[in-house]
Amino acid sequence: MRILKFFLSFFGLLLIFGLLFFFLFAGSLVDKKLNGVDRSNNPELSEKAKQLHPKLTIGDWHSDNMLWDRDPLEKISHGHVDVPRLIEGNYTLAVFDAVIKSPRGLNYNKNSADAMDDITLLAMGNRWPMRTWTSLCERALYQSEMMHKAERESNGKLQLIKTKADLQNYLNEKKTKAKMVAGMLSIEGLHALEGEFENLDRLIDAGYRMMGPVHFFDNKMGGSSAGVEQGGLTEFGEKVIREMEKRSIIIDLAHSSSALIADILKIAKRPVVVSHTGVQGIKDSPRNLSDEEVRAIAANGGIIGIGFWEEAAGGKRPQDIATAIRYVVDLVGIKHVSLGSDFDGSVVVPFDCSEIIYVTDALIKEGFSDDEIDQIMGRNQIEFLLNNLPD
Ligand SMILES: [Zn+2]
Repeated sequence: MRILKFFLSFFGLLLIFGLLFFFLFAGSLVDKKLNGVDRSNNPELSEKAKQLHPKLTIGDWHSDNMLWDRDPLEKISHGHVDVPRLIEGNYTLAVFDAVIKSPRGLNYNKNSADAMDDITLLAMGNRWPMRTWTSLCERALYQSEMMHKAERESNGKLQLIKTKADLQNYLNEKKTKAKMVAGMLSIEGLHALEGEFENLDRLIDAGYRMMGPVHFFDNKMGGSSAGVEQGGLTEFGEKVIREMEKRSIIIDLAHSSSALIADILKIAKRPVVVSHTGVQGIKDSPRNLSDEEVRAIAANGGIIGIGFWEEAAGGKRPQDIATAIRYVVDLVGIKHVSLGSDFDGSVVVPFDCSEIIYVTDALIKEGFSDDEIDQIMGRNQIEFLLNNLPD
């Protein structure tokens, strides 16, 4: 009996320590493992880049920093994005994206919606409230609450932008106050609606201003480029897209299947965004846009954010990002391209956001003029938002 009691209490303790470890460290360990920086291919920065960079408008369409167990206001030494590093990098605006569900065994070709969801474990490991463990909509709502709390505690350093007027006021204020950055909230995958049209209101009320219909698997909206069916827009999807347009919520076509991109462009009355992507002309991948899709998005007045990870940029060097940008500019013109890093999106990148000057440097070496670089680095994005955010 005594021995049995001993073993029970021993394993009980082990279990408690195991759980404690999971809740204290698991999220942060995964974060450090997945969001790496490989600086080994970075060049010496040019003097010209150092002079030009502080004068630029800088914006990014996509980062997943809200997913991780961090304080957005604290500068940390791992991962890619936090408010202090954005300010160091001279950012005007960054889009913070809510990741909602991620199927186990994630890949660019085929993922089932029924696969085990890694975000559930991460939500537990991050000690998010229990309502986020079982509800995809609550996951989006919670990530927005977290960023709004950071905004309140930031002493004006972080401003979350929801309307054209918000953005204009922020830009005016920033002229005299350099140490601040704007954020905009987006959602990666409208499985966040949990299939309920009414939940769209809740997400808009929570401050989300850009939404992608799908992520790595097909959902009730339509097909993903990495889904099983990879189909087009569903009837439910069409209803949601039309409502988003009515409410001036930006549509993000990153991760959409070719059929879904075509269907949405057919009915879209407003310009769309592809927040983080590569192009097949540089790197042939189902995750990247074909030339035909790039042309169709430009014809819609849309804008494409070029990603910084190898599968999107076509290589590991900052110069590869500039080459991919050049490809889009040559195809459809400078107005339709900007930055879509996918920082903190479980990718390895050549630098974190505080070192975004490497892109400036690469664009100079690619032969773009100062004015063109300003457009690519952020002005295109800011002008797009000034035209397309809600009034
Ligand atoms: Zn993504």
